[in-house]
Amino acid sequence: MANASSPIREEIRSIAPYNAGLTLEEVRAKYHIDDIAKLGSNENPLGPSPMVRTLFPDIGELARLYPDPQGRALCARLAANFDVEANQVILGNGSEDLIAVICRSVVRPADTMATLYPSFPLHEDYVTLMGGKVERVTVTADLTIDMNALLAAIARKPRMLMFSNPMNPVGSWLTPSELAKAIAALDPETLIVVDEAYAEYAAGDDYPSAADMLKDSGCNWVVLRTFSKAYGLAGLRIGYGIVSDGGLCDFFNRARTPFNTNAIAQVSAISALDDAGHLKRSIEAASLERQRMAASLAAMGYRMAPSKCNFLFVDTGKNSTQLAVALLERGVIVKPWKQTGFETFIRVSVGSIRENDHFLRALKDAGAQGSSPALFRR
Ligand SMILES: *Cc1c(COP(=O)(O)O)cnc(C)c1O
Repeated sequence: MANASSPIREEIRSIAPYNAGLTLEEVRAKYHIDDIAKLGSNENPLGPSPMVRTLFPDIGELARLYPDPQGRALCARLAANFDVEANQVILGNGSEDLIAVICRSVVRPADTMATLYPSFPLHEDYVTLMGGKVERVTVTADLTIDMNALLAAIARKPRMLMFSNPMNPVGSWLTPSELAKAIAALDPETLIVVDEAYAEYAAGDDYPSAADMLKDSGCNWVVLRTFSKAYGLAGLRIGYGIVSDGGLCDFFNRARTPFNTNAIAQVSAISALDDAGHLKRSIEAASLERQRMAASLAAMGYRMAPSKCNFLFVDTGKNSTQLAVALLERGVIVKPWKQTGFETFIRVSVGSIRENDHFLRALKDAGAQGSSPALFRR
């Protein structure tokens, strides 16, 4: 069993947890008092402007008071979903916040972080920020994950192995048996972080829940999830991490800002969890439209990686930054990929039927202006 403090920088170990004081609920429960003068946190007794209140029916008290710094109600719900203790859940101002928190806590100068490539840029950026080095495990020519290269990178015992599954931007994913092989090869000193931003879309027989597989691994691990994608709450900035151990999670809590998730986001996330029907409809619509888009793109001569997500990674055979401008001129925003070796790719999200049709029309039009798509010329 790995030691929970071993991945943590000395600087983090030495700082004390933030003392946020008690919430009204805690005082009520602990002291059986209803009438409380909350004068410890410099909050405005009048609350927010009436204009702010109209945004959200209950925004008055939510906006006036500091949020629960742990987001305990939401953490309890998430802990039950994952069958872990509530102290193994950490909330982030988006999961990107947690990527930063983890890197801040773990990466020392010259440490190595291994990741799948092309990568989610933030996974690399925060490592670099901390003075660490990034080791990229590039996908194969057919855009699937190179398991031999991944296992070789793991064997070099990186400080951290962090990647998204399914991969953003590619959409490819590690199957249950592939993830099991990667986990079995991990050194106890390597922290594994699996960013499952698209897990709700990918869920099914061929896709592993990393938390389930990591629970008995003896490793230090984090699984990141977000409400920004399938739950549709990107504007509210709320994501979370499931952590192997409450002690390790406590270290990460020290490395974040104390009130990193806001009260409206916490409440909205719980409502989102309550509406399973909406989530299911969102996933089904994305799946149908993704298949339709992929078929249309294939018919146009484009090739793309397999995807279970709400996006496709498409080789356009030409400079994608220039193509993206041509698409913008036709009213379509896509993400041209700029990482070395993948400059001919765009990542296009699965939108509404109308938006997707618009994209396909614009691509036909813009694509006709240059050479035809030439595929995987890397
Ligand atoms: C979108 C995305 C995130 C960021 O999500 P937020 O919760 O909005 O910060 C993290 N990781 C990956 C791989 C993503 O695609």
